[in-house]
Amino acid sequence: MFGQVEAFAGDPILSLNDSFKTDPRPEKVNLSIGVYTDEQGRLPVLDSVRAAYERNGFAERPYLPMEGHPAYREGVQKLIFGAAHPALTEKRIATIQTIGGTGAVGIAADFLAKHCPGRTVLVSDPTWDNHHGLFQRAGFKTTTYSYWNRANRSVDFDGMVKALEAAEPGSIVVIQPVCHNPTGVDLDERQQASVTDVLVAKGHIVVFDMAYQGFGTGLDEDAAFVRRYAERASCLVANSFSKNFSLYGERCGGLSIVCRDSDESERVLGQLKLAVRRSYSSPPMTAGLLVATVLGNDDLRAQWTREVETMRTRMVSMRKLLAEQIRSLSNEIDVGFLTNQRGMFSYTGLNEQQVTTLRERDGVYLVGSGRMCVAGLNEANVPKVAKSFVEVSQA
Ligand code: PMP
Repeated sequence: MFGQVEAFAGDPILSLNDSFKTDPRPEKVNLSIGVYTDEQGRLPVLDSVRAAYERNGFAERPYLPMEGHPAYREGVQKLIFGAAHPALTEKRIATIQTIGGTGAVGIAADFLAKHCPGRTVLVSDPTWDNHHGLFQRAGFKTTTYSYWNRANRSVDFDGMVKALEAAEPGSIVVIQPVCHNPTGVDLDERQQASVTDVLVAKGHIVVFDMAYQGFGTGLDEDAAFVRRYAERASCLVANSFSKNFSLYGERCGGLSIVCRDSDESERVLGQLKLAVRRSYSSPPMTAGLLVATVLGNDDLRAQWTREVETMRTRMVSMRKLLAEQIRSLSNEIDVGFLTNQRGMFSYTGLNEQQVTTLRERDGVYLVGSGRMCVAGLNEANVPKVAKSFVEVSQA
């Protein structure tokens, strides 16, 4: 009956992670998958999250409403937009709890497919691969806007603006506002302002995908682009708590749609609930309670903010350490990109062949595109990574 079913090639990053697990070499280093590990190479269990877990205990598990836990949704709005944002105080944001950031982008795509069909979808080149997949699943054709300037390892700003200007008015544009995956390069404030002008003038529908809030400069600073944009125009914001709460498997995310007025936002919320109902009915309860408890209690929220800061500063110091160690081995390699880029990822400029050599010869795992997850670095493995990096660069 299912003889015609084709084999799934697997997800390249997840497959790489599986190969890492079966690699017998003790000094292997995993810099491929996008998870934050601490100095000991472990996934942290945040004290704020543990406290939230203990405060809740285990009680009845009714279904959550389709839109999710009320305190979670309120927490998402305040975290992304700031409590005093006009869109929030005017009650024009429709927010739902989602199944991770993936679920948020997926429901955004389903919502747009139903209510704004037939538009072109533009995503950055390169981007998180699932942007293509999720919008295509919803029935859209996806295309790209230029984003990566290989020559100087920065944003191809002119190319990006040109593509957004050339796109059909009212196109859907997916933007990662901070800690871009996979390149690690973000628009600066002036570039954000110019891009905003173009997007608003063209009437494009912006879907912000913010999976790393707090890993760039700080929780508020990282949301500044989204906040300013939302003062100018309607937009969609998908967010993930996987990384900044270290709650990967709990599947915590949110989708917020900024509307023109509160009446519109009520209708939009109704349609989001319908999209959820048709897909998975309601989001998970434990995930909802954990995040709602941290975000909804001043003491836990302050503790969590400090814990996000600890993760962020550790990544910054690992970037610096790797750059220093590479420089100490060779002054012919330009390592400025390591400290200029932000967040969990760094596009190293290494090609596929070099990445293969790193993996096969040295047990250092990067993604084929040359993307390195700097959160996998620690003081113990940086010397080895630096040495491999220099050898492969000079071969
Ligand atoms: N968007 C981007 C840009 C991401 O990098 C990721 C995670 N890799 C996601 C969305 C998905 O987030 P989650 O793991 O919470 O589903």
